[in-house]
Amino acid sequence: MVFTIAVFVLLWIFQISFLEKFYESIKTRDTGECLEEISESYEKMEPTQFGNYIDDMALKHDICIEVLDRYRRSIYSSDVIGDCLIHGRENRTQIYIIGILENPDKQIRYKIKNSRSNCDMLIFGCTLGNPDNPEGYILLNSALAPVGATVAIIKRQLTVITLWLVILAFLISLYLSKRIAQPITNITKAAENLAHGDFRTKFDGRGYLESKKLADTLTYAERELSRVDMMQRDLIANVSHDLRTPLTMLKAYAEMIRDLSGDNPVKRNEHLEIIINETDRLALLVNDILDLSKLESGKQKPNPSEFEIKSKLGEIIGRFKGISEKMGYSIHFTSDGEKMVYCDIVKIEQVIYNLINNAINYTGKDKQIFVRQINLDDGVLIEVEDTGDGIEEEKIKLIFDKYYRSENHKREVVGTGLGLSIVKAVLKMHNYDYGVRSTIGKGSVFWFKISEWDKN
Ligand code: ADP
Repeated sequence: MVFTIAVFVLLWIFQISFLEKFYESIKTRDTGECLEEISESYEKMEPTQFGNYIDDMALKHDICIEVLDRYRRSIYSSDVIGDCLIHGRENRTQIYIIGILENPDKQIRYKIKNSRSNCDMLIFGCTLGNPDNPEGYILLNSALAPVGATVAIIKRQLTVITLWLVILAFLISLYLSKRIAQPITNITKAAENLAHGDFRTKFDGRGYLESKKLADTLTYAERELSRVDMMQRDLIANVSHDLRTPLTMLKAYAEMIRDLSGDNPVKRNEHLEIIINETDRLALLVNDILDLSKLESGKQKPNPSEFEIKSKLGEIIGRFKGISEKMGYSIHFTSDGEKMVYCDIVKIEQVIYNLINNAINYTGKDKQIFVRQINLDDGVLIEVEDTGDGIEEEKIKLIFDKYYRSENHKREVVGTGLGLSIVKAVLKMHNYDYGVRSTIGKGSVFWFKISEWDKN
């Protein structure tokens, strides 16, 4: 609306207030140019041509032209247009010529009111040939038509146009505000609901493309927020569940020692052993949670160093020696030979440890585990294979998620449901490829690839 009004104020000022001034200045310039052109043409043209030329110019510029000789007698004269002040006005032409001669520039530019027609006239004149000894004179009469009538017409026209355009501008702004402002107001209201935790809020971006995009982005943000919210709830539920179980056992066995087995060293030791195991389990869980939260905070960057992978694998497998001997597990290690790798040794060690630990936990009755180190041109492939039940295709996607544990896992299998999440976080941090090949009933192969690292 403001823009429309501004345009019209400008139009009114220029069209109405300045119209007369514009018209006069244009007429003055035009008449002046005409005078110059005629005086130049006089010198170049044959006298026979000049007469026609004067008529043409008079018609073209809507002016009266009178050419006089040195004796001030009319030699060429255009047709008379309106009530002109030069044609047939001997006395006046004489006065104009005197005016020309008295002027140092040897020309006149008068604006005179014609008392008969009550209209302003521009009387321009100059000498022909040498100004000091003129061969003749040219006089032009150009009528300044009164602009009052024109202004009145324009005023009426502008009033009608202004009215229509103000109405149109009002309707357009109404439509635009509905199309642009309304969806944004709706989205803002919905975003406020979302901020208050209502994840079922609908973002309606009807209208133009940008508001639709904004609504889509907010819908996406809402989905992600609700997912994070759900994961957080799950995490708290899972952690508290996992903390509660060992704590209940700790309390139960401590009470048993106090009330029953305190005096029976065999029983007491057995119960104390359980308490120690449960404490270990608790410590493991808390450590895993801490590790994972550190890894996922994104604050941790790999701290790489160079080391020999074959020796490292041997060393980690060695750590399982106790359990292998005690429980009858066999870990078979095959290697393509020593190779230097460059990565965060502490974290990669944890990945290998978690994979072997899982393989022991989930391998079949034959208790066989295979660890392979395959040297490639651009890195080293590490595979950990077990002969367990395998993992169903659709579950493979889930097992790397935090706290996912298959429903059929046995209580005696020590685990927090965070092992593979830690594996995933570490490998992602290193940008290493990883995955699982699994056949139901035959076992699974967990693999990851330590790629060559540009030390620079
Ligand atoms: P946890 O072993 O403590 O349950 P993980 O994150 O290490 O947690 O593993 C998540 C789930 O993935 C396990 O509960 C199990 O169902 C499945 N899984 C992991 N490793 C294997 C494996 N080698 N064979 C079969 N299932 C496995």
